[in-house]
Amino acid sequence: MRGLRDKTAVITGGASGIGRATAHRLAEEGVDVVVTDVDDDGGEETVERIEANEAADGVAEFRSLDVSDYDRFEECLLAAAETHDGLDILFNNAGIGEARSFRETTREHRDDLIDVNLNGVWNGCHAALPVFEESGGGAIINTASMAGWKPAPITTYALTKAAVLHFTRSVAGEFAQYDVRINAVCPGLVDTAMTDEWYSEAEQEAMRRQTALDRWGDPEEIASCVAFLASEDASYVTGRAMKVDAGYV
Ligand code: NAD
Repeated sequence: MRGLRDKTAVITGGASGIGRATAHRLAEEGVDVVVTDVDDDGGEETVERIEANEAADGVAEFRSLDVSDYDRFEECLLAAAETHDGLDILFNNAGIGEARSFRETTREHRDDLIDVNLNGVWNGCHAALPVFEESGGGAIINTASMAGWKPAPITTYALTKAAVLHFTRSVAGEFAQYDVRINAVCPGLVDTAMTDEWYSEAEQEAMRRQTALDRWGDPEEIASCVAFLASEDASYVTGRAMKVDAGYV
């Protein structure tokens, strides 16, 4: 894809699933990737795998980061920009799930979901803006979900993802003043640790039948879309939410 080589990206939730696949894909496009996560072992493993991947040209490093911690997020973005002579891409991907009814959801779990899935994205966008301004612009991709579009029984999770979608679309005009494009990606059913934990085999099967393509997706299929949105090929795309869901919604 055009315009990715020699850029620098910070990826949150890069220790697993969609974040890890995107770190690989961007490194293969020649991007230097700063992989971040609360899972230090998983994050280090992502970096080791990129270093062992002969198709990856970009360098990779890991930084421990809890996205709900604004100060730490800001520090991480500033350090990435300092080390790599600027920041070009931020993938706000870290997220946690929910596998319970609204009635069973505790206030603690509600707060966790909002802190990570919503405040984490807000923190990244807010702390990144001056860093992007200093770097001469950039691209942000926020991970929302099909659950942010379509009513879903995972109600508090859906609430955070709908908020991420609306926030992304609403803030795009202001970010454009700093040459920052901001978009959201809305994954459908993607086979990752999160969905393995959430859904039984029978539930996974039933959900599969609701997709037009009749299958679950791989994290790499979301990574392709993120790479596109980060690249110059998407130079006229901002304030959008891209569904990558095999026709589920
Ligand atoms: P995953 O569990 O494989 O990866 C999520 C990563 O986020 C993990 O590495 C985890 O350690 C990290 N994380 C959790 N809390 C964090 C925090 N406070 N700070 C930093 N990192 C933290 O799951 P995934 O499916 O790859 O999910 C990635 C994103 O995609 C999430 O935002 C999720 O909501 C979204 N999503 C996934 C699906 C799907 O079907 N898998 C569908 C729609 C949206």
